[in-house]
Amino acid sequence: MEPDTFQTLVLAWIAVAVLLVPVQLRATAPYGRHTNTHWGPLMDNRLGWVVMEIVSPMMLLYFFLNGPNEKTAPLWFMAGLWALHYINRSLIFPMRTRTDGKQIPVVIVLSAVFFNTVNGWSNGYFLGFIAPPLKEAWFSQPHVLIGLALFLGGAALNLWADELLLRLRKPGETGYKIPSGGLFRYVSCPNHLGEIIEWAGFALIAWNVAAMGFAVWTAANLVPRALSHHRWYREHFQDYPPERRALIPYLL
Ligand code: NDP
Repeated sequence: MEPDTFQTLVLAWIAVAVLLVPVQLRATAPYGRHTNTHWGPLMDNRLGWVVMEIVSPMMLLYFFLNGPNEKTAPLWFMAGLWALHYINRSLIFPMRTRTDGKQIPVVIVLSAVFFNTVNGWSNGYFLGFIAPPLKEAWFSQPHVLIGLALFLGGAALNLWADELLLRLRKPGETGYKIPSGGLFRYVSCPNHLGEIIEWAGFALIAWNVAAMGFAVWTAANLVPRALSHHRWYREHFQDYPPERRALIPYLL
């Protein structure tokens, strides 16, 4: 595929993310605390997470490894960051959730499979087929260093916050409690904030349209989700801290 065609396709994909923001703000995606039975058949929550998330690193690695590009260290580095994130998200995170007996709509799993297929493909295809043969000097470029700091900081925040949420439940529990401590003092969803920062950092490191697309999609998914979670906490806990915001301390 010509690089111009690739770019047009990915820009169209980014436009879809932007156009869907008003829909995502109005209709909360029905998984986790928002799961309901109006969305057709359900499947085991943990299995659903593995199935929908494993697609992303598989697509990325397939197109990266099978592309004709010389696999220089910077390209391996970017593919490696993606794979590391998804080892956690598709295998470790689902196994550690305390969601025994909980279910997720099959339609959510299928739409996430599609989402992850497109993003894994576009990022793998860029690295395997389109990226220039970056050399070692790339590692000391300012956009790479700043992007890496954001990526690592965002990933650390995401991992810490997910861990704290997972530990709110004792084995066998499936209910919800008010999270507290660290950034939870200021926002309801530091895990979503961390993930948004992480992929914005990756876009800065990789500095290409595919990585930008994933950063936009992540924000388009997680800003509405954090707002829904925040509303849900306020509706379900009378003693929910009133000063806490949804996603960005003091602002949102
Ligand atoms: P949530 O914060 O809703 O849930 C994370 C886990 O913690 C779930 O197992 C949940 O259980 C449990 N949990 C959450 N809040 C509480 C609480 N108050 N008390 C007890 N247990 C709680 O995260 P999401 O499901 O929205 O997302 C999971 C991860 O995936 C996040 O790190 C997110 O950033 C990432 N993600 C990334 C996307 C992207 O586009 N890049 C899109 C969606 C998610 P339960 O499932 O029972 O609610």
